[in-house]
Parts: sequence; C-alpha cells; structure tokens
Amino acid sequence: NKKVVLRSYADGLPKVSDFEFVEACRQAVPEGSTAVVVKNLYLSCDPYLRNLMSKKEEPFDVPEFNIGEVISGFGVSRIVESGHPDFKEGDFVWGITGWEEYSIINKPDGLIKIKNTDLPLSYYTGILGMPGLTAYVGFHEICSPNKGDYVFVSAASGAVGQLVGQFAKLLGCYVVGSCGSDEKVELLRSKFGFDDAFNYKKERDLRAALKRRFPEGIDIYFENVGGALLDAVLLNMRRHGRIAVCGMVSQYNLERHEGVHNLALVNIKRLHMKGFVVFDHYQLYPQFLESTIPSIKEGKIAYVEDVVEGLENAPAALVGLFEGRNVGKQVVVVARD
Ligand code: NDP
Repeated sequence: NKKVVLRSYADGLPKVSDFEFVEACRQAVPEGSTAVVVKNLYLSCDPYLRNLMSKKEEPFDVPEFNIGEVISGFGVSRIVESGHPDFKEGDFVWGITGWEEYSIINKPDGLIKIKNTDLPLSYYTGILGMPGLTAYVGFHEICSPNKGDYVFVSAASGAVGQLVGQFAKLLGCYVVGSCGSDEKVELLRSKFGFDDAFNYKKERDLRAALKRRFPEGIDIYFENVGGALLDAVLLNMRRHGRIAVCGMVSQYNLERHEGVHNLALVNIKRLHMKGFVVFDHYQLYPQFLESTIPSIKEGKIAYVEDVVEGLENAPAALVGLFEGRNVGKQVVVVARD
C-alpha cells in the first residue's frame, strides 16, 4: 500500500520535498469493528491542506498533520471491506480519506454514499462534493443575492469560483471574475459565461481594473483570495454590499497575514462581511445535489477539472495550487475503479 506522508512542516510555499512516499501493509477491518477499508480512486487537492502542513496559532477545524503521518483529505473511494451496516463492498463514497492506495476508515459515518453514479465519479471531489457545496452555500446562503446584482468572484476559474460565477449567472446577475492567466480569462468568458474577466497579475492598479468593470460598484464579492485584491474591492463596493469570505488563498503561505487598509469602509458603506465554512452546512447537501445534477445534465452548468494521473504526482499537484498551475478543479487519479 503506497502512501504519501508529511516529511517536514511547510515554511512559506509548500514544496514537493515536504512530502515522502512510503510503503506499508494494507490494513484489514478488525474483528467486530465498524471500520471500512476503501480503495481510493480520486483525491482532491484543496487549498486548506496547506493550513494543516504547519502549526498554527489559531486552531483550524481539522487538526494539523504530524510528521510521518499520511496526508488526509477529500477523495472518492470504493468500499472493499466493511464492518459497518450502512456500507457494503462495492459502494462508492466521498469524504475524508488518505493519500494512499487503500485506507482504513475507523469512523465511516462521515462518508457520503454516492447514489448518482451516472456522472463521472471524480465530480464528487469538486462540483458534486465539498467545493460544489461551498459555492452553493456561499453564494445562495451567505451573499443574499438578487437578480441583477453586480457580482465579483476572485480565483474565479478554480473549483469553487467557476461554480459561484455560474450560480450567479443562472440567477441573472452581472458577473466578473479575476484569475491568474490569460488562458483562464478566456475560460471564464467562453466556457463559464462570465460577463467579463481579467488577469490580476497583469493589472497594475486593481482599484481601477474593478472600477472599469463595475462603474456603478459591486453588490456582492465572493472572496477567495484576500490581500491587495480585497483592499481594491472594498474601495469599489456599493453601499449595503455583501462580502462572503470563503477563503484567502493569497495569505496561506505567509507567516504573518497582510494588513487590509480599507477595512473602515465596511462601516461607512454599511457592508455585510461574513466568513463561512462549508462543514457547518452539510444539511444542505441533498438540496444542493437536487438542483445541481439536473443543471449539469441539461448543460446549464459547465465544469472544468485538471486531472493528474498517479498518486506519485499528488504533492506536485497540491503545490501547484499556490502557483495557479491548476486550470479548474485539481484532481489526482489513484485508480479508476
Ligand atoms: P482553486 O481551484 O481556485 O485553486 C486555488 C487557486 O487560487 C489557484 O489556481 C490560483 O488561481 C489562486 N491563487 C493561488 N495563490 C494565489 C495568490 N497568492 N493570489 C491570488 N490567487 C492565488 O481552489 P478552490 O476553488 O478549491 O478554493 C478557492 C478558495 O475557497 C480558497 O481560498 C479556499 O481556501 C476556499 N475554500 C473555502 C471553503 C470554506 O468552507 N470556506 C471550502 C473550500 C474552499 P489563479 O491562477 O487565479 O491565481
């Protein structure tokens, strides 16, 4: 059983050398236990994993990795052995698993059984899994959106961003996204139907870049990035605007987070700025699936994933998120069935 473990805590940008490959024996379900053993098929590279690769002052929802411990994160797996009454051999599930070929899951209650297997199973690492629910909850529940709102999304071509933009378009909003390459700008405009998009790396003056695209200001900002972009957005928000703080990926590799200079505008512009974490909203998962699956099948929502083959390439794929190398949702294929 090949596995990826943490070799050293990350300092600044994570590196491939922070990880190590080891071989271990595959475990079996102990007699009388309710554990399951899964074969891992698709692993998800998510920015939050960086937060678990170093010790933090502020505890996160999920405990940090220890040196030598297998990396754990979201994935899609097939049950190969079960001691749990709710799971049987052959069931497909998504949830927290290990970066290894086979994992023993001691508390399988957190796994979600995949009922709709007529869409690609890898979708359950993205559009039909945790990032999809994040986009849905973040936009519909946190942003209080209305038809015609001016919406700005950062990291807009990624797993969460591409869906937020499309949910906003389906509601009849005007949507602009930012991203880090011209290829991604093209994707936002042509594939995901954003009204406009720009490459933040090419804009010297982010305030002006936003002003050109939102002459009347922004009603909703879906925040994925933080830092200088947030500062520029605050200057462009309309009165009573909403900011859903989903994440701040530009800050995850910094020892000390950057200061935000224009925060006083939250008061002056009567903004509603709210952080959220998807783990608090899993009760909306059935409702989310019910509305999203038909939209995918009818071609109303497009989805782009960046698929890397092989467990050995998982560390590089994760590191790539912080350099913007992924085009769409970053998935790693460990096995296809
Ligand atoms: P993405 O698929 O968007 O991948 C990360 C992207 O972030 C990269 O492709 C890159 O795109 C961009 N990026 C990386 N470094 C920087 C930087 N320094 N400045 C600006 N952009 C950068 O990831 P996800 O869609 O999975 O996640 C998006 C956000 O949502 C993250 O902040 C994540 O932490 C958050 N999140 C929050 C959840 C919650 O429950 N609140 C749940 C899931 C995700 P580009 O080329 O555009 O620079």
